[in-house]
Amino acid sequence: MSISFNVPPCVGTEIEYVADAINKHKICGDGEYTKKCNAWIEEKTGTPKALLTTSCTHATEMAALLADIQPGDEVIMPSYTFVSTADAFVLRGAKVVFVDIRPDTMNIDENKIEAAITKKTKAIVPVHYAGVSCEMDTIMDIARRHNLAVIEDAAQGIMSTYKGKALGTIGDYGCYSFHETKNYSMGEGGAILIKSPDMAERAEIIREKGTNRAKFFRGQIDKYTWVDAGSSYLPSELNAAYLYAQLQVADKIYDNRMAAWNKYYELLSPLADSGKIDLPVVPEGCVHNAHMFYIKAKDIEERTRFISYMKEAGIGCVFHYIPLHSAPAGRKYGRFHGEDIYTTKESERLVRLPMFYGITEEQVEFICDRVKAFYS
Ligand SMILES: *Cc1c(COP(=O)(O)O)cnc(C)c1O
Repeated sequence: MSISFNVPPCVGTEIEYVADAINKHKICGDGEYTKKCNAWIEEKTGTPKALLTTSCTHATEMAALLADIQPGDEVIMPSYTFVSTADAFVLRGAKVVFVDIRPDTMNIDENKIEAAITKKTKAIVPVHYAGVSCEMDTIMDIARRHNLAVIEDAAQGIMSTYKGKALGTIGDYGCYSFHETKNYSMGEGGAILIKSPDMAERAEIIREKGTNRAKFFRGQIDKYTWVDAGSSYLPSELNAAYLYAQLQVADKIYDNRMAAWNKYYELLSPLADSGKIDLPVVPEGCVHNAHMFYIKAKDIEERTRFISYMKEAGIGCVFHYIPLHSAPAGRKYGRFHGEDIYTTKESERLVRLPMFYGITEEQVEFICDRVKAFYS
């Protein structure tokens, strides 16, 4: 048996929808499929406004523009995250202030944020790692008291909730990813969720090269024109059609991934009980989406041996992220506030096991057998 780390999701109806978009001669952005995806996200999450974008990176860039991030502003985020979280703000000239993570969820430690706030702080960017929510009540309370924007990097968090609220709808802006490594995909793509109706119109303008084209197409104005600075953040209909096929069967994808996640958890619990590995933690109040299954080895040396052992067995296991504050750009554009107690240490222990739509119970059993063999 050979098991890849990831297989891009495909449910079978994608080709039909993509062909339909081609046959209707509507392949640029904001056609029928894009609108269906936007509406699906709005209905599913309860957000007043969702707009498909070309990526989660671009959704975050839009959020940085909407939050009016200026050169010299400071933005607080974890260092244990993907580069896009920081890039979107660095492009606006902001300084990134990294705060340590919690070892249980790998999310930003909500109790260390307030000490990192200065007069220059403009926003907090919680990253919901593995689709498990950050402690949003505390984060929103801090943001309210200090008048800061909250931009949720919910790239991994679609279909997850925190105290009943969909991730991406709690802060001012939420950013989803539909990259091929995510639960629902369009190859490359994402979405921005916008809480304030006032900002929704500006978001449409920024996404359409700074024009009020969206208003024009709704018949609200009779000519469209250049009204603001913007860019092109709308994806092609071909990509939206691919995604819509998956959103229609979102629960089926969710159930399959959750069954695999629960199987992993059940089969690997004995190893965790005997202290050999650590397993993911899902705090009270959080419902996750089985985006990822990871284990934590003792240290980086054991993890390296584990990954090669699994590779020999035909199983793709990967690690991420190199903490941003230790990367060359992280040193240039950011600083770590406080002590790095867990970020580096825990990032060196974490390894992800195969997880994708269509993974079977037999495959999960096979993988867990190899994990157990490694630790015996
Ligand atoms: C995948 C991911 C992104 C980037 O998503 P793209 O759609 O590829 O731009 C950003 N942040 C996190 C935490 C991610 O996992």
